[in-house]
Amino acid sequence: MTSPKPLVAGNWKMNGLLANVSQMTELNQLISDGGANCDVLLCPSTTLISSLLEAGAGGKVMVGGQDCHANVSGAHTGDISAEMLKDLGCSYVIVGHSERRADHGETSADVNAKAAAAQTQGLKAIICCGESDEERSSGKTLDVVLEQVKASIPQDAKNSNTVIAYEPVWAIGTGKVPTANDVEEVHAAIRTLLIQRFGEEGALIGILYGGSVKASNASELMGVQNVNGALVGGASLKAADFYGIIEAYK
Ligand code: PEP
Repeated sequence: MTSPKPLVAGNWKMNGLLANVSQMTELNQLISDGGANCDVLLCPSTTLISSLLEAGAGGKVMVGGQDCHANVSGAHTGDISAEMLKDLGCSYVIVGHSERRADHGETSADVNAKAAAAQTQGLKAIICCGESDEERSSGKTLDVVLEQVKASIPQDAKNSNTVIAYEPVWAIGTGKVPTANDVEEVHAAIRTLLIQRFGEEGALIGILYGGSVKASNASELMGVQNVNGALVGGASLKAADFYGIIEAYK
């Protein structure tokens, strides 16, 4: 059985102006000079998607959205549909990031509907899950994460339309990172669930780790069994920092 191709994905969150588009050019240059043994993705704010695509044309770095609405179109002021992201040239969209779950009250059922909408449009959905600090300290990590994955993942998930991102909420933007053993335990449990539910295809769905990944810890984290790449926030904003993570796959 082959394993999923690694993916290193950057989530710029609500950061970046037109002046930052040069990071795409720089990143593609670093990759063409030094190589990258993984897929590479940047998910900027919607305002920068077209500019990044233009700056990255012909290069290796793909572009994705940070969220999408579950509906194709309609009266949803301020929202963006999966079809719109596809229309711009995106190949991925992040759904169910813990900041969306916390700031916008998104439930796993909402995330499931968003992921299904993305898949219908031919986008790959990066479905996020992860426990809070309190849930980890009270021994509920696996229950919480598996429940989120079960409820957030659409029926016909497969390698070509789905990636899971395990992101402990307490590790996001804090500089705190779980031990390799803790990451391995959660990824193994997610892998088991995916195989139980989707058979052999479940072994091929990528599972990313996210939460304070940087160049100095990427090799260790990316070396953990069933870790098929990273979802990176802060360290994806500067091409040189992000490339330092991509280099874990050289
Ligand atoms: C994230 O928000 O998805 C994330 C992992 O952030 P950071 O890398 O900054 O912890």
